[in-house]
Amino acid sequence: MPTKQVELKGPRELEAMRAAGRIAAEVLAYLRSQVRPGACASDLDRMAREEILRRGATPAFLGYRGFPAAVCVSVNCEVVHGIPSAQKIFRSGDIVSLDFGVLYEGYYGDTALSVGVGEVPVEVRRLMEVTEEALQKAISVSYPGNRLGDIGHIIQGCAHRAGLSVVRDFVGHGIGRNLHEEPQVLNYGAQGTGLRLVEGMVLAIEPMFNLGTSEVAVLEDGWTVVTCDGRPSAHFEHTVAITEQGPEVLTKI
Ligand code: MG
Repeated sequence: MPTKQVELKGPRELEAMRAAGRIAAEVLAYLRSQVRPGACASDLDRMAREEILRRGATPAFLGYRGFPAAVCVSVNCEVVHGIPSAQKIFRSGDIVSLDFGVLYEGYYGDTALSVGVGEVPVEVRRLMEVTEEALQKAISVSYPGNRLGDIGHIIQGCAHRAGLSVVRDFVGHGIGRNLHEEPQVLNYGAQGTGLRLVEGMVLAIEPMFNLGTSEVAVLEDGWTVVTCDGRPSAHFEHTVAITEQGPEVLTKI
C-alpha cells in the first residue's frame, strides 16, 4: 500500500497543467531544432530561459536544489542532469538529451528527449528509437485500473528485447503543484503489481536506456549522471494525465 499521498487533479487543475505542458512542449521542440554540430549547451540554456519566460512561465529546474541552469543537457555517456556550459560543444555523431520543466500559474510540466547530432552511429539511433518507443508503449498502458508495475514492465521489456539496459537509479514521478510528487514511476517492474492508476493522476514517465551497463555514477559537479562504462544513454519523458478516456499526453510536441 502507498504510504504517501498521491494528489489527484480535478478538471480545473488539469486545464492548468495542459497549459504548462503545452509551453514545455513548444520550448522543447524549439530547442531540439537548435541542436546541430558546433552549437553549444549554454546557447541552448539561454534559449530555454528566453523561450520559457516569453511564454509567461518560469524555468522550473533553475535553482532547483541549486541546479544552475534552465535545461539539463546530457551528451553521449551523460544520462541526465548534465550542466550546460560553453565548453559542451556538439559534434556530429553525438547524442544530446534535453530535459527541463516549466512552472506556469502554479503548475509544472516536465519533458525530455534525445536527439542525434548530424550523422549518428546506427546503434545510437536505435537506442534513441527504442527508448522513445518504450515511452510511447508506457503511455499506451496508462489507463485507470492498470498499475504502476504495468508501466515499468512494458518499459523494461522494450529495453531487454533490444539488448539495452534500463537505468534503475533514476525514476519518473508524479507532478502537479510540485515538480516531483508521489508516486515514483519506476522504469522496471512486474505486470499487475504496484499502485493502481486512477483518474486524476498526472505522471512524468521517463525511461532512460543505456547501450551498455545499467550502472551509473554522479560526477564531481554533484549533478551530471554518467554511465559507468562510458557508453551512450538516451532519455525521453512526457507528462501524462490519467483520464477516464485514457492517457492524455500534456507535453505532446
Ligand atoms: Mg522528470
